[in-house]
Amino acid sequence: MTTERPPSVDALARSLASTGLPHPLLVEVARAAIGAGDPSGAAALAEAWQRRLLQPVINATGVLLHTNLGRAPVAHEQGASASNVELDLDTGGRGSRQAHAAALLARACGAEAALVVNNGAAAVLLLLAALASGRGVAVSRGELVEIGGSFRIPDVLAQSGARLVEVGTTNRTRREDFAAALDDRRSDVAAVLAVHRSNYAITGFTEAATTAELATLGVPLLVDLGSGLLDAACPWLADGPPPWLRDEPGVRQTLEAGAAAVTFSGDKLLGGPQAGIIAGTAEIVAACARHPLMRALRPGGLVLGALQDVALAYLRRDGDAIPLWRRAVVPTDELHRRAASIAASAGVGTAVASAAVPGGGTLPSAEIPSAAVAVPGDHLAALRAAIPPVIARVADGTTLLDLRAVDESDDDHLVDALRALAAAER
Ligand SMILES: *Cc1c(COP(=O)(O)O)cnc(C)c1O
Repeated sequence: MTTERPPSVDALARSLASTGLPHPLLVEVARAAIGAGDPSGAAALAEAWQRRLLQPVINATGVLLHTNLGRAPVAHEQGASASNVELDLDTGGRGSRQAHAAALLARACGAEAALVVNNGAAAVLLLLAALASGRGVAVSRGELVEIGGSFRIPDVLAQSGARLVEVGTTNRTRREDFAAALDDRRSDVAAVLAVHRSNYAITGFTEAATTAELATLGVPLLVDLGSGLLDAACPWLADGPPPWLRDEPGVRQTLEAGAAAVTFSGDKLLGGPQAGIIAGTAEIVAACARHPLMRALRPGGLVLGALQDVALAYLRRDGDAIPLWRRAVVPTDELHRRAASIAASAGVGTAVASAAVPGGGTLPSAEIPSAAVAVPGDHLAALRAAIPPVIARVADGTTLLDLRAVDESDDDHLVDALRALAAAER
């Protein structure tokens, strides 16, 4: 009796070269498949590797800012050239990493100065470390929250070296509560921190001090806005703010009301790359820039370049140049027309009205009118297997491909993915 000899690891790896994966990865895959006694399984293992790679996907979830999908969509072209990331082209001397994107963002929101770091959490950490290390920071008990992804205000505060001074109650905190905390010498309060209720709401018997009230306590008021709506009036949108933005506070308005510094993310309602921004008085921003943590939290040229594009678009009042805003304000009947056309071309599904959400830890109860292609049954896995992968959602046993966060140029990919679904079921 003869048994078939397993192929050599090297031969099996080379037979998978058309996948485009580097040879050492294919050797690993071949070795695993042969070790498991299933050489023919190597192709599936290689495919699993390919699917693990970072790649474009279509966000048909109806969540405009989906954290698992990278939040705001950004397009940024950059050649392999050097850039003046820290060079002053006038003097030839060392420049500031904050002279381009940050300086433009400060102008776009009416701040004296601004600073860009790696993300929103880093912005809060740096601000507290620079202003209040070893001292007290007063925070309302209604805002000692977790924003998600293990960002907890008390923990970030502790990491900054500041001491938490809890003020008021969960549902009601007034200006007098802060004033009493500040009067207590032992608390040594260096600043008041207000945290925007990004991803939760407190309803019923509630009361909270306004920004303007907290700004007159005699210590700097720091506001962690998170979502980064630059200006509540949305001057970059032809029709002003859409109804779902409702009472979302703007960075500009928060500074105007007296906040000394505001922190927000680059990739939420700002519509840029992952980044954190501190905007405020020149003195506070300079204190942050001088702090030793700054070196550990600073962004790279790629991020600063993408953020500069966004800042320039805001200064031009050109919301159309910011992919997030372009998608956010497409008229719902336009989305409905596209959904009907996709369903008709694919011969699968029907166009239905849908409710999208801002997501990304912003506006917890807001809904954005939208339209979707509805297909009976749960097809999420099959849609994820499409190229490019389509990420949809299921509601009441129906798969919904929501178009609110889909660029029109991707509609053909949705048609292909839906056709493949139909073909697989035949
Ligand atoms: C999102 C958010 C953060 C964290 O920002 P990241 O950019 O995710 O690090 C902090 N505070 C608030 C209020 C937020 O909404």
